[in-house]
Order: sequence, then C-alpha cells, then structure tokens
Amino acid sequence: MSQPKKLTFENLAHLMERRGLFTNDQLKDVLARGKSQESKLFSLRHSGISRRMRAGSDLVSPVEVLASLNIEINGVQGNLLTEDVITEALASATGLKYFKIDPLKLDLNVVTDHIPRPFALKNLIVAVGESNGVITVAVADPFNESIVNELASARRLEIKRVLSSKSDILKILREFYGFRASVLAAEAEASSTVDLGNLEQFFKLKGHQDIEGNDKHVVSAVDFLLNYAFDQHASDIHIEPKRETSLIRFRIDGVIHNIHVVPKPLHAPIVSRIKMLSRMDLAEKRRPQDGRIKTNYSNKDIELRVSTVPVAFGEKVVIRVFDPDILLQELDSMGFYPRELNLYNSFLRRPNGIILVTGPTGSGKTTTLYSSLRSLSSPEVNIVTVEDPIEMVMEEFNQIGVQQAIGVSFDSILRNILRQDPDIIMIGEIRDRETAENAVQAALTGHLVLSTLHTNDSASTIIRLLDLGVPPFLISATVLGIVAQRLVRKICPHCKKVRNLSKDECDYLQLPEKSYAVWEGEGCKECRGTGYKGRSGLFEVMDMNERLKALVSGSVELAVVVNASRQEGLVSLREIAIQKMLEGVTTYEEVISMTG
Ligand SMILES: [Zn+2]
Repeated sequence: MSQPKKLTFENLAHLMERRGLFTNDQLKDVLARGKSQESKLFSLRHSGISRRMRAGSDLVSPVEVLASLNIEINGVQGNLLTEDVITEALASATGLKYFKIDPLKLDLNVVTDHIPRPFALKNLIVAVGESNGVITVAVADPFNESIVNELASARRLEIKRVLSSKSDILKILREFYGFRASVLAAEAEASSTVDLGNLEQFFKLKGHQDIEGNDKHVVSAVDFLLNYAFDQHASDIHIEPKRETSLIRFRIDGVIHNIHVVPKPLHAPIVSRIKMLSRMDLAEKRRPQDGRIKTNYSNKDIELRVSTVPVAFGEKVVIRVFDPDILLQELDSMGFYPRELNLYNSFLRRPNGIILVTGPTGSGKTTTLYSSLRSLSSPEVNIVTVEDPIEMVMEEFNQIGVQQAIGVSFDSILRNILRQDPDIIMIGEIRDRETAENAVQAALTGHLVLSTLHTNDSASTIIRLLDLGVPPFLISATVLGIVAQRLVRKICPHCKKVRNLSKDECDYLQLPEKSYAVWEGEGCKECRGTGYKGRSGLFEVMDMNERLKALVSGSVELAVVVNASRQEGLVSLREIAIQKMLEGVTTYEEVISMTG
C-alpha cells in the first residue's frame, strides 16, 4: 500500500493497525466511532469561533480524535493509545524522527527567532534546535512538507523536520512566544529607564517603581513565568540578578535547571511585580523580605512563599511553590511500611499527648503534619496551628503565624491559644525551652499536639527534649511517639535497569554476604536524563511504650535509648532505606546520601 499524502482519520487508523497497535476487529470499531467523535470534538472547540478566526491550533487533528477514543493497545487493559504513542508510531511510519519535547532543553531564542508566531500557530510547527546552521523544527503533521519548504526558502534556512505531538507543540507556542513577547514589549518600554539594581540610582528612580511593576507586559511576563513553573512541577523559582542579565532558574525534583536569561533592565520591574503580588514593601530593597502569593492553577489553589535578598547586582528572589497535591497526601501513599503506618495511626487516634516528627530541612515533615491534620479534620474537631511562617493556608485549620518582629512568638501564642478551645494543636517547630514547655502543658491538659524537631533520628529526639530542659517525667507522661523521616528520589520507571550490588557496596551497608539485585535509572526523556522521577518518604517510628518511658531520666545516654528501642522492634531509617533499595524503589546512591 502506498503512503498517503494527507493525514485523514481513516488512513491514520489503517497505519496504526498495520503497525500492530490494534487488531483488525478494533479497526472496524475505530472507523465506525471516528466520524462522530470528530464532529463532536469539532463542535466543542468551535462554539463561538468564526471560520475566519480559526488557526491550525483550533482544528481537530486525526491524531487527537484517535487519542480521544481511549483505545486499549491490542486490547490490553490500561495500556492506552495516547497522543504520544500515536505520534511515535506515525513518525516511524512516515520515516520522520519522533521528538518528545522537553521545554527545559529548549532555547527561547531558537524557538522564537526563526518562525513568526502566527505562522507557527497556523501550521503547528516549532523550532526545537539549531546546529551548524540547520534548524530542527518539530511538526505535528508529517505531510506538511511543502509548508516547511516554503518557510525554508522564504527565510533562507536549512530545515530538518521531526515529529512531535500537537499538545507538546501548542504548549511551547503558548509559553515561549507568550513570555518572549511580554519581555520584548517590556524591554522596549524600559529601555529609557536605568537599572534599579544599582543602589546609587535608587533615590533618583524612586518615582518610577509603580509604573514599572504595573506595566502590562511585565505583568504578563510574570504570569507566563509562574504558569510555566507550575506546568513543570517546579518546587522553587529563582530570579537572580547578574552583572549584565537576570537569570531565571527552576528547581524540579531537587535539581536546578536554567530556564531563561532576561535582559538586565527587566530584572527590577519583574522583581517589583512579584513583590507587589506578595504584598512586600516595594521601596525596601536593602533588607530581606518575606511574603506570599495565593494563586490558582488548573483548578487548584497554589501557595507561593516569596523571599527577597539583596545581592551584589540587585535583589534576588526565591519563590517556593506549595502544591496541595504534594503538601497534602493520603498517609498510606507517602511511603510508610505497614508496621510504621499502623503505629503512627495509633498515635493519631489518641485523645491527648505529643507526636513529634523529626528530620532535616526538606525531609517532608510539613507534608506529614498537614496530611495528618487533614486526616483528623472534621467539623466537630477544632484544629489550631501555630507556624513560622504558615506554609500553606488551609481553610479547615485555624492557623496563626508567628511574627517575631511584633513580639508574637510561638511561646506567646501558645500561652493564649488554649482559650480558643482547640482539640488538636500543631506547633510548626519546637526550638526552645518555652515552646517545649507549652507543648507539654497543652498535652497534659487534654490536647493532641503535633510538632517537629530538628534532630536526626527518633532516639536523639528524646535527648534533645532533655537538653531543652523538659523534665524526664513529663516526657514520659506526654510523648506518644516519634517519627524520623527522610525523602528519597524514586527510580524512573521508564528507564529502570537491574544490576548486582558490588562487594564493596554490600560491605558499606553491612549486608550479609550474598548477591543482591538493585535498580537504577539510565536516564531517559521521561526523567530528563536524571534516572529519577518523584520522591518517596522513609519513616522510622518509635513507640513510646512503658519500657522506653521508664528509661527516660536526666542522665540517660543515647546508646541506651537506641538499644532499648531496637529491642522493642524499631526499624531504623537506614534499614528502611535498604529495604526500599532492594524493592527497586530507590538506588544505592540515594540510600547513602540520605542516611549517611
Ligand atoms: Zn527515565
């Protein structure tokens, strides 16, 4: 059968069947459903758009129609024929290279310089690379060669085509051209003003600040930037002034990526806009400031915590993104093993006492606390939190932020909080003796108290409480249990490969001699070459049972607590990490870096 010249639903369906993605029986069904599905999608998309206004992006492509039918590949349950799968098959059927677009690897200039936006949108093409004068463009339709040739001769370019999915191409067109257009427009307006990063100019320019941050192009550049960060699941956004430019970087799954380099004159207006959104003092540029922004992205509330710090070439901004999907999880999906989860749930069911979660910064303590509170929350329960600062605003909790500057401390809030008749109290962190004493008082007067401490493991938490001056008998009387936690990166399921643990590695982990299978990710498109995707918690849970309570005294040594808790069945963080490694959840390297 000869190659088709135009992509229709029918010849796409035949191509897929010939490539073995569905059976001949499925093909009949697909052809029958295709027509009505096509007109359904068409009317959905075109209500309200006149024919003249339609661009390529509005048209319904055969690939979209086929993907929307949710066909199971060869009838295998759950294995769906998605847009990516169809595009990849279409690429090999037409002799083009399939290209999965990774926005983080694209160069803003390459994307936006060579192809005008209207042309790109109309024909669904995007420049994805440039080397030795040859531009690589990703196209959604493999049969649009003539359009690409037209572009090549009009702009005197040498062009190579690759095939990508329409949704990937559209996403890039919207985000990159949108951000670039805003930046260029803002730059044109800002070119007459002077760089605010220079402190000497500070007073001279004071009057311009409002105009700059409010500039509509700056406003939309910041909007594009935030949406792009949410889209990429970035946990932090860094905006860093350099001598000549401003560098924008995202942290994703723990790793920093460079995203954009913006002209220096725009650094100050962008920072002003972000400060405005987070209600900071715009005129204050020499002192660090904190603020927050609450925004909405694909129907969920996202909380941003913003901080600014003056550095050599201006103000550096770091935005931490609090995604409720990450901060609030079901306790049983966080990585607990059954023994630990049962113990922890038994603490949460107690009417009063203290539950402590410990670990270094970034070990997921806040997620554990919020998720626990959420699991306890009901209309009959009054939950009060005292935090410094409030990580994420949650309507069902009554949250109070510590404000040291005006004398509102953990200690002073806790002294007054009991009048608010809480049932459950969450204290962000126990850092000092006063806070520890208040926590104990609250627990003794019938409240369930959840808090965190900055210690390495459960046993040393007891020693830390003694060091803070909490009397041993009060620790025994109030502490229900202690959770020590870490986060490890999970191996990417798409490029996971098995290997054997070497003799040295076994020795290092003190594993009994035998052969162990472990896994690691080789790096692929899905994980941006890192070999990891997502994270899992490690939880060590200490039950303060009668034996441990009896042990706590002013002179108890760490080793004694460790030994006793081990005899009572405690599984250490290291052992839990090794178990996750042997189950193929994480790698040897993560075990070593997380548990020392
Ligand atoms: Zn991978």
